[in-house]
Amino acid sequence: MSQFNWQQYLMDVDDIDPTPVLFGTDTNSAGPRGAQPDDRGTGLNKPRFFCTYCYELGARRVPTFRQKSDWKRHEKSFHETGLEWPCQLNGCVEVFTRVRDLVAHCQSRHGRAPHRDEIVEMPVPPKCVFACGFVNCRNLSASWETRCDHVAMHMRNEHANSSDWRYNRKLLNLLKHCDINPTWRKVKAHWCISRGLESLDTSQLAWDCKETRTMLQQLECHTFGENLEAFLFEVLWLGSPTQSQIDFTEQPQMPTILDGPSPNPPPGAG
Ligand SMILES: [Zn+2]
Ligand SMILES: [Zn+2]
Ligand SMILES: [Zn+2]
Repeated sequence: MSQFNWQQYLMDVDDIDPTPVLFGTDTNSAGPRGAQPDDRGTGLNKPRFFCTYCYELGARRVPTFRQKSDWKRHEKSFHETGLEWPCQLNGCVEVFTRVRDLVAHCQSRHGRAPHRDEIVEMPVPPKCVFACGFVNCRNLSASWETRCDHVAMHMRNEHANSSDWRYNRKLLNLLKHCDINPTWRKVKAHWCISRGLESLDTSQLAWDCKETRTMLQQLECHTFGENLEAFLFEVLWLGSPTQSQIDFTEQPQMPTILDGPSPNPPPGAG
């Protein structure tokens, strides 16, 4: 927890813009860093880059961008700020990545601006892995830069749009990280044994984006503590739609994993 910058807060309050709209029309967008050559020349004026975070959060209008640089700037300055502000009012559990969004939330949801001591800035640990969320993609990136290049590639070259983006895919990809996957497979096997199931179809798992915010962060920062197994059981539990009632045996084409992890899982498994 770091010292709160009151001057910055006042500036932010003057500049509340909780509802991002279409950013691609910004004529100042070719700022100092300018448009990348690869951002131009195809697709004419059609915005191809959409904010994956706004989409996941269920924004009424997902911002789209013509320039990769504008898209990247938005995702960074709105969603990957490296800081967060939990709402402290009335037992609320919402968390924001910008102080102005917290203030706007307090005003609209709780009917008043937060007091000075109700604004607590929390640093997010550095993220060591980022996952792609496009269906059928299993990509993990070790840095924000490579992640952005990768995700932008789908949007630019494959014209992938928000209907192809899955929060669940992002989470499942994070579970494929080599430090996590062997334990994840073990946990899935135990889950099946304890429920008398032959196998577990992970495509039937579904996580709520807001409910699992901290969990996703732990998977990106590798801050799940000493007991990875217990952590992954919780991940599985939260992703199970009816939390243990679902019949996973209706997917006979899935490979059986009771023999423990195999050294080279087939692409697309799990
Ligand atoms: Zn956004
Ligand atoms: Zn709140
Ligand atoms: Zn991808």
